[in-house]
Amino acid sequence: MARYVGPVCRLCRREGIKLFLKGTKCETAKCTLEKRAAPPGQHGQTRTKLSEYGVQLREKQRLKRMWGMLEQQFKNYFRKAARQKGVTGETLLQSLELRLDNVVYRLGFSASRLGARQAILHGHVHVNGHKVNRPSFGLKIGDQIQIANRPNVMELAKLNLEKTASRPTLAWLKLNREGLKGEIVSIPTREEISVPVNERLIVELYSK
Ligand code: SF4
Repeated sequence: MARYVGPVCRLCRREGIKLFLKGTKCETAKCTLEKRAAPPGQHGQTRTKLSEYGVQLREKQRLKRMWGMLEQQFKNYFRKAARQKGVTGETLLQSLELRLDNVVYRLGFSASRLGARQAILHGHVHVNGHKVNRPSFGLKIGDQIQIANRPNVMELAKLNLEKTASRPTLAWLKLNREGLKGEIVSIPTREEISVPVNERLIVELYSK
């Protein structure tokens, strides 16, 4: 699946919020957005007031970029969410949150979603005892996630767990630090999904 490979801090500057794309650097004073908050480009300082469409578009871009997706893939998630029962915006967030790359990131085995994606592509993550090398793999309640039993891979996961230890624990995930395992214990509610976007605006954008 194609993905954006340009400078990621530029995306945070464009969106005006931290998208947490660079792992632990994002949580330190070295974060580019802390030092240079203006949008990128020659006219970054002179951005005019956004239209209603512009506000909706930015909200969608924020969420899409947080997950490192391109437009078509994101749109597919939206379409799938719109076909399901329930509130479309919340269903969309839940399906993104339950992607394997996101869960590996949330458990702390990787400092960023991008790092989690790399680990999965290299076969470092198992689900229910089987190697899964698809970052978009959708998880469900009861699924067990485990870091591959290889010394260097386990070492890296432990290091990442230490680096991310200050993150709040999530009620919908069970983490076994010593065993480098995790489990999905429930479907996350909207309140449990900590993404600073207004998903209602994304639904409005795609409903035009
Ligand atoms: Fe965004 Fe992280 Fe770069 Fe800060 S360090 S601008 S949060 S990607």
